[in-house]
Amino acid sequence: MLDKEYYHEVFDKLANTWGKENQMRMCIEEMSELTKELCKYMRHKTGEQTPELDAEIEEIKKNIIEETADVLICASQVKRFFGDKAVEEVMDYKIKRVDKRVNDFIEKNKK
Ligand SMILES: [Mg+2]
Repeated sequence: MLDKEYYHEVFDKLANTWGKENQMRMCIEEMSELTKELCKYMRHKTGEQTPELDAEIEEIKKNIIEETADVLICASQVKRFFGDKAVEEVMDYKIKRVDKRVNDFIEKNKK
């Protein structure tokens, strides 16, 4: 993976060249593309299994990888626009909170 400084340099260049609003619009578009691929994946996985559908699933998996990368790139730009540190603090808080919830759930459902 390329270093964080290079990412930031490119993100700043994109924002300065095309504008933050366009980059945010792009983020919305990329999130919807990932949404679509995830819906397709779940629909295919629950349907009948045929060689043709298996090939389609492989294609969908490739698309999910690509769209996930697009979303992470765009979300990283949004994070930079609104404050990397502020977003990271909320992420840390939410990760700890959900970790506690899942641990409580696991503990409660132990037999
Ligand atoms: Mg895309």
